[in-house]
Amino acid sequence: MFRKHILRRLSAYHDGVLSADEKLRVEHHLGQCRHCRSAYDEIRFGARLASALTVSSAPASIWSDIHRVSRVSSRRRWIPQTIVAGALAAAVLVLYLLTRPHLASPSWEVTGFAGTSRLRAGEVLQTDSSSEAQIKIANIGQLTIDRNTRIRLLVSRADQHRIALDRGKVEATTWAPPRLFIVETPSATAVDLGCKYTLEVQPDGSSLLHVTLGLVALERDNRETVVPAGAFCRTRSGIGPGTPFFEDSPAELQSALDRVDSLPEGSERSRALSVVLRESHVRDALSLWHLLPRLDAQSRGLIYDRLVQLLPPPADVTRDGIVRLDPKMLESWKRIVSQLWQ
Ligand SMILES: [Zn+2]
Repeated sequence: MFRKHILRRLSAYHDGVLSADEKLRVEHHLGQCRHCRSAYDEIRFGARLASALTVSSAPASIWSDIHRVSRVSSRRRWIPQTIVAGALAAAVLVLYLLTRPHLASPSWEVTGFAGTSRLRAGEVLQTDSSSEAQIKIANIGQLTIDRNTRIRLLVSRADQHRIALDRGKVEATTWAPPRLFIVETPSATAVDLGCKYTLEVQPDGSSLLHVTLGLVALERDNRETVVPAGAFCRTRSGIGPGTPFFEDSPAELQSALDRVDSLPEGSERSRALSVVLRESHVRDALSLWHLLPRLDAQSRGLIYDRLVQLLPPPADVTRDGIVRLDPKMLESWKRIVSQLWQ
C-alpha cells in the first residue's frame, strides 16, 4: 500500500495509463482506504456523467444563450460560468429523471435456462442437477451458473452489481472497473477487481475462490485478502478468508496451509507451519506474506526467516520490525514481494 493517500494517481488509474506496478499498488490502497475509495467513486461517477452528457444533446437555445452571455464585459464574467453550471445541472437532472425508472427495475438477461429469461433484483435463480445458466451481468460481464447452484440478484445499479451465492458454483468474467461486481457468500464477500474467476460455496457455507485472470478481493469484517490470477483462496464460515496459495504450489504445502488456517494457536499449528515453511518456494511467498499478520509473534519470526531466503527485503527492514508488524517496513518489503502477483 502507498504510505500516503493516492488521490493524485486516481485519474490516471481510471484512464488505465498507470504501469502494472503502480496499478496494483493503487488497487491495494483502494482496498484498504475508504477515503481514497470514495474519491475514486466520484471520479468514476464524473466520468460516467461526462460520457452521458456528450451523448445527450442540449437544446440549441442554451448554447446560443451561453454564447451571447459570454460576450459581456469581463466585469461580469461570472455569469456564463453560472449559466453553464446551471445548464449542466439541468441536464444532469433530466438525465436522472429519464434513467431513474429504468434503474428502478433492472434485469439481467438469462440464456440456456428453461426457468426464466430475465433476472431482476430481489429474484432467485436456482439450477438443478441437470440445468445450467448463462447470465449477462448488466453490461459489465458474464456469469456462468453451474448445476445445483442458487443465486439471488441483490442490486443492479450503474455503480454496483451485487449477487448472493447461497450454494453451488459460478464463473464470472467482467470487463468493468474494479469493485463494480460483488458476490456475497455465507463466509466472505468477493469483490471483483477486474478479472475472471470461479467461486464455489459448499453446503457448510465455506467457499473456494479460484482466480484465473486479474485480481479478486475477499472481504469480511473490514479485512481484505487480495487473490491474484493463478491462486486459490478458501473461506470458512465464521472465520472468513484463509491464506491464498498458487495452484502450482506443492500439495503438501497446501494441506499444511489448510491446517494452519483452521487450527488454534498451539503445537499442532506450529508443526503445520513448519511444513509450510519447509515446502515453500519463491512463489509461495504469496502465502507466507498473507500469513504474517494472522499469526502470533513467534510464528511471524519464523516466517520472516524463510521469507528472507526467498525474497530478501530492502536494507531498512528488520526481523524485529516485521515481528511487530511495523507498517513502514511491511510496505517497503511488500513492494518486492507483491511483484509475484502482478
Ligand atoms: Zn488513501
